[in-house]
Amino acid sequence: MAHGKKAWAMIPFAKRFPELGPRETRTAFVPDDDGDFPRGKYAFLELYCEEEDCDCRRVMLTVIEESTPGKIWATISFGWDPPEWFTDETEDLGATASGAFLDPLGPQSEHATEFLDLFEQMITQDPAYLERLKRHYAMFKAAQPTRKRSWETPDPARRAKRPKPELLKKRRKLR
Ligand SMILES: [Zn+2]
Repeated sequence: MAHGKKAWAMIPFAKRFPELGPRETRTAFVPDDDGDFPRGKYAFLELYCEEEDCDCRRVMLTVIEESTPGKIWATISFGWDPPEWFTDETEDLGATASGAFLDPLGPQSEHATEFLDLFEQMITQDPAYLERLKRHYAMFKAAQPTRKRSWETPDPARRAKRPKPELLKKRRKLR
């Protein structure tokens, strides 16, 4: 169950599904500098956790823009289960995995908060998008390659500590 919050444990959906991925990646076109966002064509790339035996039911989204390659405009973590789903045993997980928030370990930009707002609008106003994220998660987990791991080399990611809730600067519950 332990979920290593290491960047390398999150794999882009499009890497595992190179044809479907780009087709089903949510984009947002901003035609003018309207105050909230600079003009541009933004994409919400999905990353899912590749940890074996992990059912974290969450997605990480990195927001990129066509004309600014290499720049990450926001890193959003989103867990779709309500906090009540989590038991005492997974209390620590529930503290960080429910709702959408800016990931404290990922790169952000000066517009990150606006992108978080936009993402929350999308998942609350567009149920099809939320269902798509869940479907992508299920597909990703079903396509998980079985890695051979020796009993002599335990995986350090399994014991990785997750950040404490108070370290999360921007965390919001789903309304
Ligand atoms: Zn996971």
